[in-house]
Amino acid sequence: MSHPNYQLDCGWNALLAPRVPRPALQQDLDTDVAIIGAGWTGIAAARRWQELSPGDSVTLLDSSEIGEGNPGRNSGFLLSIALAEDANPSQLERMALCNRLTGDTMAQIMADVERYCAQTGETVDLQRTGTYRAAASSAGLRSLNNYRAFLQAAGLPFTELDRNALRERLGSNFYAEGLYSPDCYLAQPAAVIRALAAQLSKDTQLFENTPALEITRVGQRWRVKTPGGHVSCRQLILANNAFAKDLGIGGSRLVAMYTFAGLTPPLAAAQLDALGTDANWGLLPTHRLGSTLRRTVDGRFMIRSMHSYEKELPRAHIETELARRLNSRFPSLRQTGFDKVWGGAVGFTYNGGALWGEVKPNLHISAGCNGGGTVKGTLLGRLLVDKAHGLDVPDVPRLFGRASWMPPEPLRVIGFKFASTLESWQGRHEL
Ligand SMILES: Cc1cc2nc3c(=O)[nH]c(=O)nc-3n(C[C@H](O)[C@H](O)[C@H](O)COP(=O)(O)OP(=O)(O)OC[C@H]3O[C@@H](n4cnc5c(N)ncnc54)[C@H](O)[C@@H]3O)c2cc1C
Repeated sequence: MSHPNYQLDCGWNALLAPRVPRPALQQDLDTDVAIIGAGWTGIAAARRWQELSPGDSVTLLDSSEIGEGNPGRNSGFLLSIALAEDANPSQLERMALCNRLTGDTMAQIMADVERYCAQTGETVDLQRTGTYRAAASSAGLRSLNNYRAFLQAAGLPFTELDRNALRERLGSNFYAEGLYSPDCYLAQPAAVIRALAAQLSKDTQLFENTPALEITRVGQRWRVKTPGGHVSCRQLILANNAFAKDLGIGGSRLVAMYTFAGLTPPLAAAQLDALGTDANWGLLPTHRLGSTLRRTVDGRFMIRSMHSYEKELPRAHIETELARRLNSRFPSLRQTGFDKVWGGAVGFTYNGGALWGEVKPNLHISAGCNGGGTVKGTLLGRLLVDKAHGLDVPDVPRLFGRASWMPPEPLRVIGFKFASTLESWQGRHEL
């Protein structure tokens, strides 16, 4: 499949006022630059291209609608420092640079959202709340200790919390130990991506509901086939994450891994009062197959959990399993149910490294978000454009890794099933 085709609507987007999408492409078009994918990466790349080459025409294609598609389906954690999986205390100089780049990018996102709010009078939920990381078992505690060592070595602030302190703040007795770090923003992700898309320059043409079906090299140009017409361009940027492989790029390095989220209705004040003192919080798992949790400003609980390889799970299974995991943390939510459940695709690479750079003449890619690509995607989208302009850029493969090779099917799926069964068993108390 060349693009995502979700069975369930995005829960965050459903909470927003309806938005009229830009029309789909219905003609053949010549453009200087075409970008496939209007997500965190693609929007950042389009805006950077217009900053560096204001006279160029930029065409941005997305198979979905802004807010409804993948970029709006995440849990809304915008980390302003490196992800836990990346946290390696033995590589402090590398991590310090990653943290600085990530922090600067987060500041740009915040400034863009504030500008959007000032221009439109709308409010967009994006707040520096910090984030919790917590472990329920020895498997989770090992990762938590690694993250603590990284924060200590990097001189980053954090607070340690025991079971009682976590229960007091979050209303759950589930976790044995945790850390609170202030370096994270929590967002309504569909609202933020809508705000960022609204900041595109008038010289960028955005076509929604326009999947790229095929890319080919024709002479010195690239040609993108869509259902309603072709786009011919001088420079082509792939910012469609896992689905780049279905256009023939990165097939030996990328996999679409689906993960799932559920959002409860707003809870009554009396119920919320018994659920901790913190009114707007997010918790990331220490184990990589664990569950992400949030309590939102409007009194909802969100859980993100489970993974499936290259296709979504059935709705009934998603709903039952998410409810089971949420209830094990918050038994008082047993009768609450979900307003919305949905899935989204993550561009997964075997070693967590990015697929980034010019892979063929004038064909550039930034893909492989590995589940944490809101801020990082924004950063790597901008840097990709800087590199395409011949500017001096930080060494992205050294900083963020280089996606490693994976064996072809069916070995790949067998390997995935084996590894995920083993890891799920080892981390079963964190799921
Ligand atoms: C449930 C869930 C929770 C997550 N939580 C977090 C989180 O809290 N924090 C975080 O940082 N990350 C999180 N992630 C990961 C995060 O969503 C991604 O890292 C991020 O969206 C990557 O941005 P991107 O622009 O690179 O790619 P994407 O967001 O995947 O955007 C790619 C865009 O390309 C479009 N597209 C795909 N194929 C085509 C095609 N052929 N033609 C045209 N358009 C195409 C898609 O519609 C999409 O809009 C989560 C993901 C999921 C699914």
